[in-house]
Amino acid sequence: MERINYFRLYAKGRFGRRVQKIPVALPFTCPNIDGTKGRGGCIYCYRGSRPAHLSPGVSLREQIEEGIRRGKERYGRKTLFFVYFQSYTNTYGDREHLKELYDTVLDYEEVVGLDVGTRPDCAPNWVLELLSSYRDKGLEVWIEFGLQSANFETLKRINRAHGVSDLVDATLRAKAHGLKVCIHTIVGLPFEGREDFLETAKLVSALRADGIKIHPIYVMKNTVLARLFLEGRFRALSLEEYVRYAADMLELIPESTVVHRLTAEAERDKLLSPDYCVYERKLEVIARIEEELRKRGSRQGAGSSSGVERAGGNLHKLVEEPGGA
Ligand code: SF4
Repeated sequence: MERINYFRLYAKGRFGRRVQKIPVALPFTCPNIDGTKGRGGCIYCYRGSRPAHLSPGVSLREQIEEGIRRGKERYGRKTLFFVYFQSYTNTYGDREHLKELYDTVLDYEEVVGLDVGTRPDCAPNWVLELLSSYRDKGLEVWIEFGLQSANFETLKRINRAHGVSDLVDATLRAKAHGLKVCIHTIVGLPFEGREDFLETAKLVSALRADGIKIHPIYVMKNTVLARLFLEGRFRALSLEEYVRYAADMLELIPESTVVHRLTAEAERDKLLSPDYCVYERKLEVIARIEEELRKRGSRQGAGSSSGVERAGGNLHKLVEEPGGA
């Protein structure tokens, strides 16, 4: 019995087969970089979280086809796929352009899901309606919102250029459009401690997010955070600390919430700290978190309170029954 409701378990139960995500990188930008909301981006931003092996210069079709080829080679020809629009802000464009991109995934019969990463202040209703239309075409549709922290002071300090209220608003509207919502959180941001991490987990829980990503902060070269780190004004969490906090957060996340990520994989030669945020140590980090839960005799959702249950229920009641509260 697994202690964590991983995406791979959820997807196997839902589709009856192995499901792999194909991350794709496209030449998007971000309103927090181009001056629309802010300049310079979040203090830790490095190429909009684009994985090293992806190039926005390669066409979307080539990226999808390469992902399918590799996935089938590794996991068998019956493997199914989600296309994950990962880097930068993948809802930041005009409707026709976004539709043309998203439509591409319909051409592949092995693709059963569309997964779009964005900011909570970049999800107007027309975007949610467009994404929702792919449900009618047979795809499962997820939208991933970067929150990072439920502490507004932290959001200002890390230059997110959006608030906690943007996340609440976007999540409720996305769910009302029938989309599955995954919320990204970061553990160990500057000036934060355990209370902040737990509050962030409680917000994700209260919103009844369908999914969560949890990862430790990591410092990439040539970022604002790198400067703070090199000046000795910031340090990343040790692996022991991260494991403890991630387990604490998981205990507050309902069992039904799908865990899409539990660590980070940065490019080794661009990474300043911590040394465990690399692909080669990914399984070790996850195993340590599982071991921590096992030692506690605990699991995901073990500390999810009925108070949080009620808060989540009421929030959605407000959306479903306007004026009913
Ligand atoms: S929202 Fe994402 S892409 Fe935009 S600046 Fe922040 S980390 Fe970079």
